[in-house]
Amino acid sequence: MQIFYWPYSLQFKHPFAISSVTRTDTKVVYIEIKENEISGYGEAALPPYLKETQESVINFFKKININDLKNSDGLQAKINYIDILEGGNYAAKAALEMALHDLYGKQLNKPLHKLWNLSKRKLPPALFTIGITNNNKELEEKLETSKDFEILKLKVGNTSPLEQIKKLRKLTGKKICLDVNQGWYDKNLALEWIKAMADEGVIFVEQPFSKENLSEMAWLSEKSPLPVVADESFQNVEDLNKIKNCCKGINVKLMKCGGLDKARLIIEKAKQKNLMVVMGCMSESSCGVAAAAQLTPLVDYADLDGPLLINNDPFQGVVYEMGKILLPFNPGTGAKKIYKQNN
Ligand code: MG
Repeated sequence: MQIFYWPYSLQFKHPFAISSVTRTDTKVVYIEIKENEISGYGEAALPPYLKETQESVINFFKKININDLKNSDGLQAKINYIDILEGGNYAAKAALEMALHDLYGKQLNKPLHKLWNLSKRKLPPALFTIGITNNNKELEEKLETSKDFEILKLKVGNTSPLEQIKKLRKLTGKKICLDVNQGWYDKNLALEWIKAMADEGVIFVEQPFSKENLSEMAWLSEKSPLPVVADESFQNVEDLNKIKNCCKGINVKLMKCGGLDKARLIIEKAKQKNLMVVMGCMSESSCGVAAAAQLTPLVDYADLDGPLLINNDPFQGVVYEMGKILLPFNPGTGAKKIYKQNN
């Protein structure tokens, strides 16, 4: 068994603006775990608001003792070995766990969703993200890219989103979900805006207030005519109990929770609590998104358009068709490395 890893920078097609920041790239680290000429790949995507960096991910990877990993018997034992190496490091662990699952699926020559008995017939609608923009040409370009999608995910700032929604309404009648990325401060105004947009084909509102502000999110969720979904306020399975009465749904991401197994456990528990589940991603390439897509038969919405927003994806394997993400049919996660990188 051998391990290789390398940093990379994903370049956005358009500068990507959310309520707090605009940026042109996202740093990632890829990992390859190779055994008997078969390679499994994983990705740690590191937007600047996460604590992890390329340096911290690489430092975590350096802690792996290849013999200990190799001698851990079976996939589960290998994942456990990674889990107990050190606390935190969720994106680094997600990358490693993804690579191990990919390797395991390739060794058995089966895609992960098949190994997990998930039905291809239950695919949820996929969302297409539109970052904050005042540039009409850019907006039209984005709508053209999104033509196969039925639902748009509109990023909004900290002022009234109504004008932005009205502008979009002139161009398209598609359903919209709103991602506020913690941008709103005033709960009364938030409720007023949501009431005004409920008739505009908006289907849910994600992370209206700062991530610590659960009491205001609970207040809004109770009064809002639209479901309120927690993203930044929700990281991993331990957060479920504290969040379950503050929102109607959660956005699950591999980079937040530490990998596919943990995401599956979260989805199962969230469904028991009647929470709506969105399977999301950071700005990730097809490597991470192909892995996350394997879980989409279990969720209500697939928020996995990362590969469509970048122009230097070093992997392929994610196919968007008729408003859905098709499950990759290649073995493992289904992601294929197409870019040669010096390891
Ligand atoms: Mg979000």
